[in-house]
Amino acid sequence: MSSLSSPVETQALSSLKLVAPIAGWATPLEEVPDPAFAQRMVGDGIAVDPTSSELRAPCEGVVVSVHASRHACTLRTGTGAEVLLHIGIDTVNLRGEGFIAHVQEGQRVQVGEPLIGFDMDLVARKARSLLTVMVVVNGDTHTVKQKVEDRAVAVGEPLLEVEGGTAQPVAEVAGDSSARRVRLLIPHGLHARPAAVFSRHATMHPGVVRVACGERTVNGKSVVGLMSLGARHGDTLTISVEGAQAEQRVQALVDLVTSGLGDTLQPIAESSAPVEAPVTASASAAASFFPSDRPALFQGTSAAPGVAVGIAIRVLEDQVELNQRGRGLAEEQRRLSDALAGVRHEIELMIERSTADGAHTEIFRAHLELLDDPELNDAAGRSLSAGHSAEWAWRSATELHVGMLQELENELLAERGGDLRDIGRRVIALLTGKNGSRVPTELPSNAILVADELLPSDLAEVPAGRLAALCTAKGGPTSHVAILAAGLGIPAVVAAGDAALRIPTGATLIVNGDRGEVQVHPSAAQQEATLRALAERATRREAYLAQAHEGCHTLDGARIEVFANLGRPGDAAAAAGQGAEGCGLLRSEFLFLERTTAPSEAEQTAQYQTIATALAGRPLVIRTLDVGGDKPLAYLPLPREENPVLGLRGVRVSLRYPELLRTQLRAILRVKPEGVCRVLVPMVTSAHELRAVRAMLEDERRALGVSTPVQLGAMIEVPVAAVLSERLAAEADFLSIGTNDLTQYGLAMDRGNPHVAAQLDGLHPGVLRLVAQTVEGARKHSRPVAVCGGIASDARAAPLLIGLGVTELSVAPSVIPSHKALIRTLSLSACAEVARKALELESGDEVRALVTNTWPGL
Ligand code: PEP
Ligand code: MG
Repeated sequence: MSSLSSPVETQALSSLKLVAPIAGWATPLEEVPDPAFAQRMVGDGIAVDPTSSELRAPCEGVVVSVHASRHACTLRTGTGAEVLLHIGIDTVNLRGEGFIAHVQEGQRVQVGEPLIGFDMDLVARKARSLLTVMVVVNGDTHTVKQKVEDRAVAVGEPLLEVEGGTAQPVAEVAGDSSARRVRLLIPHGLHARPAAVFSRHATMHPGVVRVACGERTVNGKSVVGLMSLGARHGDTLTISVEGAQAEQRVQALVDLVTSGLGDTLQPIAESSAPVEAPVTASASAAASFFPSDRPALFQGTSAAPGVAVGIAIRVLEDQVELNQRGRGLAEEQRRLSDALAGVRHEIELMIERSTADGAHTEIFRAHLELLDDPELNDAAGRSLSAGHSAEWAWRSATELHVGMLQELENELLAERGGDLRDIGRRVIALLTGKNGSRVPTELPSNAILVADELLPSDLAEVPAGRLAALCTAKGGPTSHVAILAAGLGIPAVVAAGDAALRIPTGATLIVNGDRGEVQVHPSAAQQEATLRALAERATRREAYLAQAHEGCHTLDGARIEVFANLGRPGDAAAAAGQGAEGCGLLRSEFLFLERTTAPSEAEQTAQYQTIATALAGRPLVIRTLDVGGDKPLAYLPLPREENPVLGLRGVRVSLRYPELLRTQLRAILRVKPEGVCRVLVPMVTSAHELRAVRAMLEDERRALGVSTPVQLGAMIEVPVAAVLSERLAAEADFLSIGTNDLTQYGLAMDRGNPHVAAQLDGLHPGVLRLVAQTVEGARKHSRPVAVCGGIASDARAAPLLIGLGVTELSVAPSVIPSHKALIRTLSLSACAEVARKALELESGDEVRALVTNTWPGL
């Protein structure tokens, strides 16, 4: 009997071990903040969060390419595997700054030999991430079988096992051939990410795809080959395709390059050489839309969490022509003042009718203040006096101030420019009678607004329930639009660059606000999977929410209170709606930052009262001002410090400026009903500080004739406070552990330092011992202990904290329903036993493993 023989001889699989090319924390690719790596578009492998600054060969091989920017290189091994080593994310933008290549193309290297050295500080400061990726790019012939992940690794320690080496059949494809030339408009040339996008599309074609640049021609299906072209911005690529439908295929690849391969486009400067080949896609590459037959993915910045599938609706840009010349000073002054009054009236009506959360109305109240801003009005007045029309004057005044905010080099203030532009637009719309909304009136039920920049009033114009998500080219994560989106529960991705502007109206999108990603034209399967996951999440959440308003006990009857952390008045009602039993930490800084004078007592009382009222009798723990040299206040002359985190912070500032603290205490004491507010003191290191605050609180209470005593708590954020908790508990009514700072000071690792971010672990057994010590000290005086730091919101930390004797968790409002549901499934005795074991372990990872082994769902 004859059997059909395979067209290709299969070879025995060979195995290859790759060792760690750099010391650090071995991290799964999914955690790399670049979709090309996270989604394995470039290849399978691993990332390492480096603690050393020398990249070494993970195996013996030949260097097939060193990127012109020296941040990446590729080795070919004896088995034919091509291993890409890529230091940091978006490091191509550094154009070689901070990198030294020790090897050249064609050089043979032994395992452990230095490949590239880099300046860790510089790269950490200038790049998006230091995560260093090692991936096998020819996944068609090689498979990564074993990985060591989620632990510290030393250079030379085995990390990956790769199997393969079998030659792939090159299919015989009948057909013709076609070639086109195209100019590369990506600012940083053909680096790893765009090369991966190109090769992925080229691989879909069964025939041969070649790409040439200058003298060199490579296989268009190979990421390494494409990178080794060293193609730069403005270079011309020649793409040639052989096989069936060669003409269409080459056109599609040319279009792909023209559209930027997922990167932003930068037109060629006038002075550069003329385009050698006609770019075949569209007249303006920057303006070309993502082609509807090709899914695309791009990255922006996450501004509001959640995931949504919907239809893109582009917001129209303002293009109002304005008359410069006015019709006389008096007439133009009258027109402007009428328009300002008209807009004021519109905004007041909007606030009055609004059913949205507090953040929403606060933002529009701020717009009312901007309308009256004296500097803005003065600037407009000067322009009117120069003979300009009201609309011209108002636009110049708002633009002048937007420009001034941007020059301050303060992202937060620059993002406030959106508010100024918004009121600028409203007033001009009234003056010119061109009052059309930028948002189309007919919207689908799952509209995703796509714009260069969105303004608060754009959102106010959208009918309730129609908006699924937002995506903008500009804007920042702390802009008012981001805050509004979060308040509406809508995912938002901002600062996505030109890619956002290439989305056509009507395109299906998946906006992932958790990761800051947008998928354009996702496949039906991707849409379905996302919708299914969303539906499952929603069903679970609904079930949790249905029980969220009830008190919460463990299986063996221990009462655990779940409170909310709040940073703005507008969130209080929503937190109560999620089942918060009170506010366990109001970060009162929101009242003090971003202004030129301190808030008055009356202003503070009004804000605290708004929150207390929204909490409807539930306790409100107000943390006194926690600022310092790292967050300077314009009206507080704090000295410049070498090391502000170890300097004047928290209660140290309050005791240095007692009048500031007394004003805040009086404002808190005035809130009704008496006793609903509790005072929490940050950064306490000694009982004497607490006694000083208590004395002021009691003075002010007597002076105001408030009869109900006010509870005073100490934050435990510094190791000595945990060690001395018995002394502090003697002076305080309650203790609240700020694990964010306690971890920072306990491990001596700066919260804001990316080099130590991976090790800054609140579940480190040392930090848990400080929590245990705090509870022990508090028990001696029967004082309750809360945790209000970030780990309280972590489902894997909650059972341990409860087991250590913490009776209140103050968490992000959104996790309250699931936390309560979890606590109801735990028994205090089991939690205590696991917590005891955790204290004996060596690392946060071991603690996490213990928790997940005990409660597999966590
Ligand atoms: C903490 O340090 O854990 C805390 C809650 O305070 P903040 O994060 O505001 O410093
Ligand atoms: Mg703190």
